Amino acid sequence: RVLMGTKISEGHGNYITAYNMLTGIRVSVSRCNAKVEQPLVDQDFFAKNKLAFDISGNELIPSAKYDFKFKDYSPLVFRHLRQLFKLDPADYLMSLTSKYIVSELGSPGKSGSFFYFSRDFRFIIKTIHHAEHRMLRSILKEYYNHVKSNPDTLISQFYGLHRVKLPFGRKIHFVVMNNLFPPNREIHRTYDLKGSFVGRETYLSSDCDNDAARRASEKRSKVLKDLNWLKGQDHIVLGPAKREMFFRQLEKDVKLLERLNMMDYSLLIGISELKAPTNNTNENSSSLRGLSYFGPDSGSKPPQGALELRKAIHKASPTALEEFDLPNSDNFRSSFMFYHDIGGFQATDELDQPLPMIYYLGVIDCLTGYGIRKKLETFWLGLTTKTDRGNYTCVPKSMDSERLISAVPAREYGERFLKFMRTITRKEPNITAPV
Ligand code: ATP
Ligand code: CA
Ligand code: CA
Repeated sequence: RVLMGTKISEGHGNYITAYNMLTGIRVSVSRCNAKVEQPLVDQDFFAKNKLAFDISGNELIPSAKYDFKFKDYSPLVFRHLRQLFKLDPADYLMSLTSKYIVSELGSPGKSGSFFYFSRDFRFIIKTIHHAEHRMLRSILKEYYNHVKSNPDTLISQFYGLHRVKLPFGRKIHFVVMNNLFPPNREIHRTYDLKGSFVGRETYLSSDCDNDAARRASEKRSKVLKDLNWLKGQDHIVLGPAKREMFFRQLEKDVKLLERLNMMDYSLLIGISELKAPTNNTNENSSSLRGLSYFGPDSGSKPPQGALELRKAIHKASPTALEEFDLPNSDNFRSSFMFYHDIGGFQATDELDQPLPMIYYLGVIDCLTGYGIRKKLETFWLGLTTKTDRGNYTCVPKSMDSERLISAVPAREYGERFLKFMRTITRKEPNITAPV
């Protein structure tokens, strides 16, 4: 598994799909933005707009490079959501322009979803399964209400839900959401945490050698999981004020997900150490943080992270990056509690004084209903693993009563998730950065 992003250019297998996605967004979102603003009504939640693009163009739609169909779901609701998330409508369209086509991240998870970055790396386009699409449609109203009363929600910020259909091709559903990780920061460790333990370990070949630099470097390039967290004895270090803020919000978010019968979501955490040594030229840092690519050609290119990708783009076209460093791209997150400190949430000691560590965090992958998941996993792994703890000696005592597997009913999933996050949050007067 190599962590990298591939810049998509003409000729790349998914160029046409990505191009069509962006063209569809540009036309339908700018149209929607042009409409007079009105309070949402119930039917806005069920609305969908169809657009047909063709090479020759027609009186309604400008000509496109390719023939395809595009569907925009609940456009007015998402316009309101983008407002709640304080996105500037013009910036949004600028970021998602197809002029500099996005970079692709391949398919980091097991689900087969593809991820694409917007050119400024602020947004992620994720292709989703039809079931996830239906799920988002059915919970949209609750999600919207939740965001309205919880502007600081840690749950993924969804900005759009769309579908493209190529001629004779399949239908591709996708969402546009926030990238939790800023493009201009080195992230030293990334964890995808669920509070379940079976299969929740990323293999690290450097685990058994003594070379701390090599260990740190390998950790930098992979997305780590629950067991890696426990074995590496990492902690979320927050003083009383931030601890209270964080858990107050996380509890509300998890309550919603429980009520919606959701499971399998993770807390994604990127840790950036502000005083980390930066003179290690060998570190080969794939700061794509967690967005790994393991497609057919993943071995043939050097690992590339958002930072590296930006450098590469800059080399190829020096003005391209300045153009997309939108004037307020560093500030747009600052009005949100958890994205306030250089785009993240800074660690604090017991006196609430800042520590040299920024967490980039959020709850991701939250469109899986228990119904879909339980068929796959509970059945196989259910009770057998409940007591078999021999292999999981690092699991804290406080989690003793919990089942170890990922697929448990939504309520149990949520409670265990919260419990785990509490267990790994530490009070810390003096910090020593782990390697
Ligand atoms: P699976 O269902 O197998 O877990 P998936 O295809 O649904 O996989 P996700 O779990 O959503 O994929 O994401 C996979 C990885 O992509 C995450 O572990 C994380 O590293 C990265 N990622 C996902 N969403 C974001 C985001 N909003 N910001 C930054 N990184 C993200
Ligand atoms: Ca996931
Ligand atoms: Ca998933």
